[in-house]
Amino acid sequence: MAWLRLQSVTKVYADGTVALRGLSLAAAQGEFLVLVGPSGCGKTTTLRLIAGLEEPTEGEIWLGGRCINGLPPRKRDVAMVFQNYALYPHMTVYDNLAFGLRMRRRELGLTKAEIDQRVRDVAEMLGIGRLLDKKPAALSGGERQRVALGRAIVRRPAVFLFDEPLSNLDAQLRAEVRRDLKRLHAEIQTTMVYVTHDQIEAMTLGDRVAVLRDGQLQQVGTPQQLYDRPENLFVACFLGSPRINTVEGELVVESGRVQFRCGAFRMDVPPGLVPADVPQGGWRLVWAIRPEHISLARETGNNYNVAEGTDLAARVTVVEPWGREQVLYCDCGGVELTVLCPAALAVRPGQQVLLRPLLTESLWFDPTTGRRMELGCQARSEKVPGNGMTG
Ligand code: ATP
Repeated sequence: MAWLRLQSVTKVYADGTVALRGLSLAAAQGEFLVLVGPSGCGKTTTLRLIAGLEEPTEGEIWLGGRCINGLPPRKRDVAMVFQNYALYPHMTVYDNLAFGLRMRRRELGLTKAEIDQRVRDVAEMLGIGRLLDKKPAALSGGERQRVALGRAIVRRPAVFLFDEPLSNLDAQLRAEVRRDLKRLHAEIQTTMVYVTHDQIEAMTLGDRVAVLRDGQLQQVGTPQQLYDRPENLFVACFLGSPRINTVEGELVVESGRVQFRCGAFRMDVPPGLVPADVPQGGWRLVWAIRPEHISLARETGNNYNVAEGTDLAARVTVVEPWGREQVLYCDCGGVELTVLCPAALAVRPGQQVLLRPLLTESLWFDPTTGRRMELGCQARSEKVPGNGMTG
């Protein structure tokens, strides 16, 4: 059974803003669930509702087998860590960590020695044991954020709620604390709901990721499921860097041959690799393919090895070095295609190349609804090598 469950939750603020529309979402006990989506999609509202800082307009929130609607925040057994963590500046790290427990010592039935043990255990777990006598002003940003995490952890709540806790840190520290959080989660096995608008954070941290847009759930699944099988164009475009290529055009069948066209852009597609039953006369569709699924057809002397009918003549417009890989922006009959390929390939702007899309990895979407369409008779390959995440 789900440990934490939101059931058809709608939130309308006093000024009429609809922040959530019928959101249903569940997390298992011990799961790391990430909520991701653009600014204003309702992520923070979801956390505030779980924490009891807001009440739903409609719907129910269940935690550990009971409905917690109407229960005051301090009775909910949740701990929230915000982006703007506020430590008490006049207290040492030790006192900051112990403060919440001391305030509720009787209620929690803890002795002074037990509080001391909890504080030291958590400090050890987060690698801040040597900082216990320092005041917050004498700490780095990453150390302060660890103390803020520690303050939540000593409480041993049923659920942790994280609201973009890393966004004030620089890139290197963010990666460090992200790794700490993952290690911590593996150690304490407590349910965590983590909000971010950063897709790399979402993909790297979450057991499952829920994508929100305009207060509505778009899709929830493992990071790989969302990456490989996005339900709609929004999810496809939101996850992955560089962004997935999308081309809106027409799929045409002529004498048994299937071709995808967009202006001067033409691409032959094996019939089994397009959505089922292309009607005669054409079909408007969005073709999508991840940059790592387009490769450069191999150059042999001065001639390209044109083995496949699907190879696309293109001109490289921009080359972006990414270290081990490079990103090529290519003009292909008026359509821009992004290609992620090994940096070792010598390519320069202005060069004519042949692109070879791995059509078994193509995705097709309905341009009106944005929904992904299932392929015809032939299935896609199940596993995609790598996930295109680099940062
Ligand atoms: P961000 O990533 O920018 O923090 P978010 O996804 O967390 O955004 P929310 O803060 O949940 O989004 O806000 C969802 C919507 O509700 C937004 O349109 C926001 O302006 C609105 N909103 C949030 N709090 C209130 C409030 N107290 N009163 C009225 N509208 C609000």
